[in-house]
Amino acid sequence: MHPVAKSLARFVVVIVLLCLFSVGIPLEAAPSSKPLAGRVIVIDPGHGGDDPGAVGCHGIVEKDVAMEISRRVAGVLRDAGARVVLTRDGDREPAGAGGSGGGRIQAHDLARRVELANKCGAHIFLSIHLNHFSEPDEYGAQVFYQVGSQESRKLAEAIQVELNRNLIDSGRQALAGDFYVCRNSRIPAVIVEVGFLSHEEESRRLTDPAYQERAARVILQGVVNYFQGNKEVKQHG
Ligand SMILES: [Zn+2]
Repeated sequence: MHPVAKSLARFVVVIVLLCLFSVGIPLEAAPSSKPLAGRVIVIDPGHGGDDPGAVGCHGIVEKDVAMEISRRVAGVLRDAGARVVLTRDGDREPAGAGGSGGGRIQAHDLARRVELANKCGAHIFLSIHLNHFSEPDEYGAQVFYQVGSQESRKLAEAIQVELNRNLIDSGRQALAGDFYVCRNSRIPAVIVEVGFLSHEEESRRLTDPAYQERAARVILQGVVNYFQGNKEVKQHG
């Protein structure tokens, strides 16, 4: 074969191969851009209104950071196709209690959050909080679930794996406990403590929009993995 014809033939083979790959394989292998289509997810930004939650280093208030991160989580979940219901959007308690504060109102507030989750036909409930401890060295994200709830444990572990691998690895594991919102929820429910406001450096990071966005994407991946029934690791840039 003439050298030009030969290279032309080679070129045609390459084009044909490229066409085969572009038509056949990516359709099969490409992950859905809407992996959460059809899912309804309740995001519960912890505290709010008269209940500030923890107050950490630099005067950072838990209810504010929880709201900021929750909005970002809601955004990425919606982008992934989920319908998202927030238990509050702004600095208020879901119960609209206001005024005198105190234990009774806080219980009412928590009851409203759970009621909302149980009534809106949601598949899962994510409560977003920030941790605080007397030891200033404690750091890292941790997910909690109701003791005895297998589905909540699976959800908690799926999110914890992603947090450890792609946000901050403090060696923490998903932990069972007894929590009002989780105990009374009829759907898988977890509390995500995204980090420690009592840790000097981590508290600063938790207010950084880029870190908040990263945390939101990591939580999204954990949720997607939970629904897909695997804990496949995906690195985030
Ligand atoms: Zn809290």
